[in-house]
Amino acid sequence: MGSNVATITNETDGAPTPDMTSRRHFIATALAAAGWHRSAPPRQADMFALVLGTAQDGGLPQAGCYSPRCDAARENPRYVASLALVEPSAERFYLVDATPDLTRQIDLIPGDAFRQRAQARRPFDGIFLTHAHIGHYLGLAVLGREGLGISRTPVYCSPGMADYLSNNGPWSLMVDEGRLVFPSVQLDEWHRVDDTLSVRLIPVPHRHEFSDTVGFVFRGANRSLLYVPDIDRWEDWHVGIEDLVREVDIALIDGSFYSPSEVPGRDIEDIPHPLIPHSMNLLQSAARDGNEVVFTHLNNTNPVHDEGSAEAREVSRRGFTVARAGMRFPL
Ligand SMILES: [Zn+2]
Ligand SMILES: [Zn+2]
Repeated sequence: MGSNVATITNETDGAPTPDMTSRRHFIATALAAAGWHRSAPPRQADMFALVLGTAQDGGLPQAGCYSPRCDAARENPRYVASLALVEPSAERFYLVDATPDLTRQIDLIPGDAFRQRAQARRPFDGIFLTHAHIGHYLGLAVLGREGLGISRTPVYCSPGMADYLSNNGPWSLMVDEGRLVFPSVQLDEWHRVDDTLSVRLIPVPHRHEFSDTVGFVFRGANRSLLYVPDIDRWEDWHVGIEDLVREVDIALIDGSFYSPSEVPGRDIEDIPHPLIPHSMNLLQSAARDGNEVVFTHLNNTNPVHDEGSAEAREVSRRGFTVARAGMRFPL
């Protein structure tokens, strides 16, 4: 993956204090709510999305799985699907989904500035959560009182997800203690997060158990990125996936399964995710036109985890990409 990312410098003078950061957030949120958009260009367009993990919720290795892939992953684990959004010059950091692997995977965020922010107990300027399945929010737990003990961190999620976190322990304690706050966001509308980053939350059809599900479109100074790690079927969505892929610069999408044979005894209709070959068929012409489509949220049975597999080679032959931890996408 190409990268235009500058090394993050350790400039204590320029590092935002937690108070400065919350004030900036408050102002940005208030201005956005008033429909005011800053017209001046950002200081430096150096924002990037960083892949922190690529596995489906259960992780790789998965508990009690002793397949050759899971055994190999005991030496070289693949973290659960997540992103960081990093703005090096502004020293801002966002997390997209808080996974059970959060403790280790946020170490992939480069630079001293992030570490200083973590030491000040305010590592993230915001956390974006897609939904309440285990791979996407359990990591919040280690950010609470028993762990890092974050304070006043905006969480961007659906109103249903915010209700769920506010009304169910242990998450409700983090809300009551003021560690997690919920800016008001309208689904399907653009929301200004800071002077570089905007986000749109799009409802996604996906097993609605504890909460509904959203996908995100993030827009930086130069490029935009779609993140939809979980969806039941593209055909059930109110959004045309091909249109959306053409609208953004990079699409990181649900690649949970490659083939129904990965889950013996289950009919293809019972697998509530689009199979990778089906998604490639839908998006082949967009990929041919240069749209970047990247598969993530890979089940532990999915052969595309293995870079040399025939399936991984087929994905790249057709002009698509399999997400790998550490990949950067400039925004
Ligand atoms: Zn998931
Ligand atoms: Zn899910």
